[in-house]
Amino acid sequence: MNHRLEALRAKLSEQSLPALLVMKDPNRIYLSGFTGSSGILVVTAEAAVLITDGRYTEQATQQAAGFRVVIHTESMVASVKQTLAELGVSRVGFEKDHWTVSQYETWSKALAPVELLGVEGLTESLRRVKDGEEIRRMRQAQAITDQAFRHILGFIQPGMKETDVALELEYTMKKLGAEDLAFETIAASGPRSALPHGRASDRVLENGDLLTLDFGCMYQGYCSDMTRTVMIGEPNDKQREIYDIVLQAQLAGVAAVGPGVSGRDVDRACREVITAHGYGEAFSHSTGHGVGLLIHEGPAASVRSEDILQPGVMVTIEPGIYIAGFGGVRIEDLVLVTESGHDVLGNSPKDLIIL
Ligand code: ZN
Ligand code: ZN
Repeated sequence: MNHRLEALRAKLSEQSLPALLVMKDPNRIYLSGFTGSSGILVVTAEAAVLITDGRYTEQATQQAAGFRVVIHTESMVASVKQTLAELGVSRVGFEKDHWTVSQYETWSKALAPVELLGVEGLTESLRRVKDGEEIRRMRQAQAITDQAFRHILGFIQPGMKETDVALELEYTMKKLGAEDLAFETIAASGPRSALPHGRASDRVLENGDLLTLDFGCMYQGYCSDMTRTVMIGEPNDKQREIYDIVLQAQLAGVAAVGPGVSGRDVDRACREVITAHGYGEAFSHSTGHGVGLLIHEGPAASVRSEDILQPGVMVTIEPGIYIAGFGGVRIEDLVLVTESGHDVLGNSPKDLIIL
């Protein structure tokens, strides 16, 4: 039995929706297991149909257990229309944050007289809470990330470019079994470490640099995400000061994670530490985000987040301090919410590493 599909059907019934079209890739992968580049699910209380094209006949049948596979010949929309007619569906939900206005117009005209009803966040709300298999994959993605970090510590030398470090991290993660990067690797050194999203450049590492590495990989479809800031050579007083504050804030944020806690409370726990030391303005982003099939998904750990953490949720805790012209520090871990509190997925050290 497909528990994810059953959970979605319960949501459909709560909303009195007789059927749903699932078009967003991560939602389709989550519900059906089908990882091809093109496919739409039609889900009703009794039926589950995967419509894809002829390139995927075999793959779809193998991956999407419990789904009837339909290969469209003419066009996707014609197949969807025919499937809805066969199932006797006259009203169908669609993911309204997926389509452009023009796609909506095309589809609603083509599917008429079937009525299209916009819905939001149905499958996403299920995806927030990871099951055992998802947690296993994310632990493995994080284990690869930790191992790549250990490797890079012995690799980094003054005189290298940021891109040398980023490439070596990426190569190492793939060599260790990652199928892809979770996002573009950030390697930001010296004054560039003040850029929260400083993609690796050709800047050459020097003694006295802070170096922020934010990286992660994909393993069996799931992402990891970690940031560490290290020192090239001995830190000065201010570098050590901001590092210690960010570390304290990060530990406070992690400690706040638990079931029933809001994303806002987690953010506050982190932010308070930084604000109390006078650097509130220098922490210019949210504390964290959910991670799963996508690198950024719900819930949010931010100033205004009303998301409530539940066991099975994966969220990052990643405070930072960024000072223009000087540099910055960020420390990020991926944290699983458990029944009794939380579990930090990685095991990379967080005390200041001096290379
Ligand atoms: Zn990150
Ligand atoms: Zn992150």
